[in-house]
Amino acid sequence: MAKRSGVSRRGFVGGVATALGAMGLAPRADLWARGARLAGSSGEPRFEPFAFGPEEDYDGYAKLANNENPYGPPESVMKAMTHAMKYSNRYGYPDGGLTEEIAKHHGVKPENILLAAGSGEILDVASTTFLQDDRMLVGADPSYNIFYSHATALKADIIKVPLLPDFRQDIPGMMHATRVNARDVGLVYLCNPNNPTGRLITKDEVKQFLDGVPEDVPVLIDEAYHHFVDDPSYATSVPYVLEGRQVIVARTFSKIAALAGMRLGYALAPKGLIQRMRPYSTGSINAIVKYGGVAALRDTESQAWVKKTTITLREKTIKDLAALGYQSIPSDTNFFMVNLKRPIVPVIDEFKKKGVLVGRPFPPLNEHLRVSIGTPEEMNRFMMAFRDIMTTKTAMRP
Ligand code: PLP
Repeated sequence: MAKRSGVSRRGFVGGVATALGAMGLAPRADLWARGARLAGSSGEPRFEPFAFGPEEDYDGYAKLANNENPYGPPESVMKAMTHAMKYSNRYGYPDGGLTEEIAKHHGVKPENILLAAGSGEILDVASTTFLQDDRMLVGADPSYNIFYSHATALKADIIKVPLLPDFRQDIPGMMHATRVNARDVGLVYLCNPNNPTGRLITKDEVKQFLDGVPEDVPVLIDEAYHHFVDDPSYATSVPYVLEGRQVIVARTFSKIAALAGMRLGYALAPKGLIQRMRPYSTGSINAIVKYGGVAALRDTESQAWVKKTTITLREKTIKDLAALGYQSIPSDTNFFMVNLKRPIVPVIDEFKKKGVLVGRPFPPLNEHLRVSIGTPEEMNRFMMAFRDIMTTKTAMRP
């Protein structure tokens, strides 16, 4: 990490906050909080990530922990991947036309695309590229915390801007944090829609944000859950890439396209940003998923079915939980958060004992449980377990 200059950042930010306070513009005190708030660091019970051995354990669970598509890849994608199996023994395999297909899909040029082994790699690459030399990251809190872990590992300072009371991202607050730290901010992260809350940033808010921050600050817009959104106030941010704004859009094949285990994602960005990021990417994408990715982009019919089925099940589950007295955050994704009104870590464990895997904690939302939408059968198992765990007398004890 580069050496800090004479005036410490903490002091600098504090000074700005004080000055803003005097101007009546003081952000909430926690706007300036630094460093990831890790599970277990604030006294809540510690969450141990699920670990599995061989498949006999894993297969029996209802898997509602990782926002996957529970139906698996459609036949068109399976066929394409089976065809590509013949390249398993090669390094110099053809790429199935994946880059060209993505370019066509979004109306961009191949030079605007960076392929990766999942969009998680894109997030890592963006951090490595833009957060070196003691640069800062600005993002919402909570958001996709694995991204923040990578930034923390790079020893980057993170300004985490708390969500608004309705769990939406505080766009003016993030804009403000970016502007007052513009000298130091290397990257801004907008997760749209946000994981873990499922709430989106409207297209007007994205515009307001991009117009309101210095135009040379790269803004990473993570659209992992883009395909589940039905709200007309939302739009993809790909047009900003076409305009040449310093925007990186991250997309994944892990969610609606059901290819999480195959690892494929990509970034769309102006050529200059792609050129800066490329040296940090492995470029190591297997032959099979390249063919699968092309078929997935073409199979819009299967994706429309997954979207419709997922939204129907999500809304039904949210309604059933409300009938039991548990309110959820409205969601535009294939998951939602339900307020359990008690710490979730022991409850996650209870669910596991009943064969249902649910989402990890996202502090500071320590009483909100993230639940992915599985198959109808998995959601029945979830509701049965929920009734058992949450409505027994012992469960109600504080
Ligand atoms: N971004 C968000 C918001 C996510 O929720 C996830 C995974 O859950 C990822 C990125 C990474 O996905 P993948 O690496 O599988 O593409």
